[in-house]
Amino acid sequence: MKHYMIPNKYIQRTESELIDFRSDTVTRPSEGMRFAMANAEVGDDVYGDDPKVNELQEKAAALLGKEAALFVTSGTQSNLCSLLAHCQRGDEIITGDKYHVYTDEAGGASVLGSIMMAPLKTNDDGSIDTEKISASIKPDDPHCPISKLLSLENTVSGKIQDHETINNCASVAKNLGLSVHMDGARLANAAVKLDASMSSLVEKIDSVSLCLSKGLGSPVGSVLVGPKDFIKRAYRIRKLLGGGLRQSGILAAAGIYALENNIERLEVDHKNALYLARKLKKIPGIYLKIKDVQTNMIFINIPAGSSNKFKSYCLKNKILINADSDNIRLVTHLDIDRDKISYFIEKLNSFFNIT
Ligand SMILES: *Cc1c(COP(=O)(O)O)cnc(C)c1O
Repeated sequence: MKHYMIPNKYIQRTESELIDFRSDTVTRPSEGMRFAMANAEVGDDVYGDDPKVNELQEKAAALLGKEAALFVTSGTQSNLCSLLAHCQRGDEIITGDKYHVYTDEAGGASVLGSIMMAPLKTNDDGSIDTEKISASIKPDDPHCPISKLLSLENTVSGKIQDHETINNCASVAKNLGLSVHMDGARLANAAVKLDASMSSLVEKIDSVSLCLSKGLGSPVGSVLVGPKDFIKRAYRIRKLLGGGLRQSGILAAAGIYALENNIERLEVDHKNALYLARKLKKIPGIYLKIKDVQTNMIFINIPAGSSNKFKSYCLKNKILINADSDNIRLVTHLDIDRDKISYFIEKLNSFFNIT
C-alpha cells in the first residue's frame, strides 16, 4: 500500500501557537497519529466492513474486558447510546448530580428516551454514597418509575474512583436488580494513576464509555463497550442518532494509535499537573488544594471579580483558559510541557505582581 506522508506545515507547531489549558480535548493529532490516519485502510462501516473500525472495536473490548465494542462520534453519543440501550420509556437512571450524563449532555436520555434521571448528591471526592443508592431505588409499585440503571463516572472532575468505591456501588445496584454503566471518559487517567488495568476497574460494570479524544489525543471519537446483545442494541441506537459513519477507519486509526501509544504517557500529564499545582501554590492570590490534584486537572480560585481581567491578560499572552468565574479549571495534556508551564507561571507571577 502506498504510504502518504504528511506535509510538515500540518505538523510543526509555530511559535505563535496558543498554550491551551482549557481542556484535554484540545490536543492536536501528533505526527505518528496523522501518519496512521493518512495510511488507514478503510471500508464502509455502515456495511460493517471498515477494517480499522473493526480493529479498534476489538481492541477496545479486549482492553476493557468486555465482549464487544462500538466506535461512536463522541462521549455524549456513547453515553446516550448506552442509556437508551439499557432503559425503556418510564425507566429511571440513578446518577450523581455532578456527573456529566446529568449536567452536560442536554438531558438526552430524558429528551429522546423518556427516561427519568434520579440525581444523587455527589461527594467532594466524586463518589456517591451506597446508602443513597439503595434508598433511591424505587419499589415495584405502579406509582413509581422503574429503577433500571446506575450510571457512575471515573474520573469525576479529575478525581479518581478506586476499585473499592466502584465495586461497592456496583454491588449495591446489582443486588437490587439494576444494571451499571460507567462514564469512563477519563478512565485511562484513573487506571494509570492507580497503576491498574482499565478492565480491573470495570469488572463489575456492564457497560463502559471511554473517550479517545481527551487525554488519549485522538481528534474524534469514543468507544462504548459491553455484552454482545447490549452492543447490538446500542448499534441500532447509534444509527437512529445519526452516528453511522462510512470511511470512519481514518478516525478509528487515530483511536488505535491512541490506545497503543498514549495511555501510559498520561503519567506525564499527571506529573505536570502536580508540578504546576506546586508552582501555583506559591502565588499569593491563587488558592488551591494540592491534595485535590489527582490526575490532570487543577482547580484554582482567584480573587473575586478578577476573572475577566485575568482571562484577557492570559489571552494577550497567548494562554487560553476557561475563566467564567473565580473558580478556574486548568487541564494538562500532551500539548502542554514543562516549558509551557514555566512560561505560564512567569506570566502569572507578573499578573499577581510577584517579581
Ligand atoms: C467529555 C466528557 C463526556 C462527553 O464527551 P464529548 O466527546 O465531549 O461528548 C462525557 N463524560 C465525561 C465525564 C466527560 O468528561
